[in-house]
Amino acid sequence: MGNPEILYMVVPCYNEEAVLHETSKQLKEKYESLISRGLISEQSRVVFVNDGSKDKTWDIIQELHKADPQFFSGINLAHNAGHQNAVLAGLMTVKDICDMAITMDADLQDDINTIDAMVEKYYEGNQVVYGVRSARKTDTFFKKFTAESFYKFMKVMGADVVYNHADFRLMSRRVLQELANFKEVNLFLRGMVPLIGFQSCSVYYERHERFAGESKYPLKKMMAFAINGITSFSTKPLKLITSLGFIMSVLSVIAFIWAFIAKFAGFAELGWSSTICSIWLIGGLQLFCLGIIGEYVGKIYAEVKQRPRFIIADFINELGVEFINDGGDKKENA
Ligand code: UDP
Ligand code: MG
Repeated sequence: MGNPEILYMVVPCYNEEAVLHETSKQLKEKYESLISRGLISEQSRVVFVNDGSKDKTWDIIQELHKADPQFFSGINLAHNAGHQNAVLAGLMTVKDICDMAITMDADLQDDINTIDAMVEKYYEGNQVVYGVRSARKTDTFFKKFTAESFYKFMKVMGADVVYNHADFRLMSRRVLQELANFKEVNLFLRGMVPLIGFQSCSVYYERHERFAGESKYPLKKMMAFAINGITSFSTKPLKLITSLGFIMSVLSVIAFIWAFIAKFAGFAELGWSSTICSIWLIGGLQLFCLGIIGEYVGKIYAEVKQRPRFIIADFINELGVEFINDGGDKKENA
């Protein structure tokens, strides 16, 4: 292994005054141990992102920095932008000054001891290391059930996410720079990172109980998050409309046949056949047309995101082109 590389932790904090002292204490111990073992550089830092907290979170972050400027730093967002945006704000701030960054919640639910394994996997050549929950012993049945259904439902709906992985992950500087090219506003990081590609792996950990304070993700917010995840990742719901329309149109043929049989066998009331046939046919056609419009809406949705069309991992520099990081485009050498 060469020189130890620089690790930045990005920790989003929203009203976390109850946990920050303990979190910073544990992170500092972890950093000291990693530095003394030569795993990370002394220039490594912990960056707390204050996501518009209403309590003393930002004061505590400032105090932490004053006491330990070599370990702790902070970013103060102007308003509560939400967990995903806070994480991205932190990552985009550190993307040019670190070699690798780990995102972790402030509440110590993610096991700090997993950081060692993540860093080791990084040195083995992984650009992304996902922290995956191996068990949910400490979650209530309700939280476990809703969370696991969330991952399954996401998959069925076409948004491919790493099962039981939230936002505890390591990313290399290279991946962060590619992430910067994803300009979308509706963030769903755990769906975006796998899209970037590169060599990746998972490390497993047991999720703890929140150290103190309460969850900022009640069921209502979790549902909104799931819906956001699906609608910002997948056009499958739109495609379902087309299929439904098609099925109804086919069923309308059956309805036609049945209506004719009923009419000629003489057990249909006057007007019943034509009514029933039109309901099925028009219903099917309407859904089918909506589905066609949906296909176009889906295309517009993909276009407006302006995601990179490809990401180049390496190329042999005999091509006389200079590699620049702007969504895979290459620039001719002047
Ligand atoms: N968080 C944030 N902004 C928000 C809500 C949450 O930065 O608007 C942070 C929060 O401080 C914590 C992390 O996101 O560090 C995860 O939130 P929480 O632990 O409440 O969610 P849960 O683990 O219950 O799903
Ligand atoms: Mg939590």
